[in-house]
Amino acid sequence: MTPSGRSLVLLDLPLPDFLAAQIDAFAETRPWSVLRADPHGDLARIEGLYTYGHPRVDAALLARLPRLRVVSNFGVGVDHIDVRAATARGVPVGNTPGAVDGATADMTMALLLAAARNVVRGDRFARGPEFTRYDPTLLLGAEVHGSTLGIIGLGRIGRQVARRARGFDMRILYHSRKRRDAAAEAALGVEYAPLDELLSRSHFVSLNVPLTPETRGLIGERELRLMRRDAILVNVARGAVVDHDALCRALREGWIAGAAIDVTEPEPLPRDHPLLRHDNLVIAPHLGSATLRTRARMGEMAAANLRAGLAREPLPHAVTC
Ligand code: NAP
Repeated sequence: MTPSGRSLVLLDLPLPDFLAAQIDAFAETRPWSVLRADPHGDLARIEGLYTYGHPRVDAALLARLPRLRVVSNFGVGVDHIDVRAATARGVPVGNTPGAVDGATADMTMALLLAAARNVVRGDRFARGPEFTRYDPTLLLGAEVHGSTLGIIGLGRIGRQVARRARGFDMRILYHSRKRRDAAAEAALGVEYAPLDELLSRSHFVSLNVPLTPETRGLIGERELRLMRRDAILVNVARGAVVDHDALCRALREGWIAGAAIDVTEPEPLPRDHPLLRHDNLVIAPHLGSATLRTRARMGEMAAANLRAGLAREPLPHAVTC
């Protein structure tokens, strides 16, 4: 507790005003730099940890925060947090499931369309000196409507991607560890396929799985070689789900036609990373859930988790391991 009677919360990055106000109402924050220099002994009094920019929260960090009561993550993906280590210390972890689904599925379709229809290359060309006359043979793209989309990870976001793809008259295959029942498949208009079959049949493959030990490197050389030569890989999940060296070779040697990625490992990539040189790659700086309305909803959920954890109440949105 601080003299103002509020709990101390460790914050990894400064928050924009509209998010900071949600926490300031009940807690006082300390910057990440107290982990390096702690002249006032704040670490021993930290009761909440708010992770905004995906810092690693591991057992070693948790051990430095003896009074910690809660870890609240701004976002749904918690691969940067050792949930087991937190649980073992009796520290609940909260996240923001559901808040991001619509925006992240919108971004998945935006990247898919951008890669298929050369939106980014076309933008560069239309601004450049070479565009001197209309040419009907220019930048011929892949047709989206009527093609097959394979969704790997039919969870909250994956289902929203399926709903949008139906609007584009796409045939939709999906792969998850557990097959959905027939009614759920019919309601969504999706067809189950084993992973290898999905990869070999899909014109577009969308990754919507969480990053776990099982999904790390899920798409490597073998999987990329199984894909069609005219296929496009879309990754709005986590960078480490895809082996970047294999993806570079796939793009360079034409195993697949292109890729569109919102996430990388590391993030950002070193500025001279070979992936950034490929013209058949569309890349965004982790914008999946980046809309003002979604960010505000995420902030409300993350603040509610933080407040509940500080009060030793059950978190409204708790992560289980
Ligand atoms: P979710 O509801 O938990 O859905 C994930 C789905 O993946 C589950 O339904 C699960 O189904 C499936 N899955 C898990 N492990 C699998 C495996 N080994 N093989 C095949 N399928 C597997 O999660 P979500 O809310 O949709 O979010 C998914 C991920 O998207 C997050 O964890 C986060 O990393 C990422 N994300 C990115 C952004 C961005 O800005 N780019 C924004 C939001 C989220 P089964 O249990 O049946 O396998």
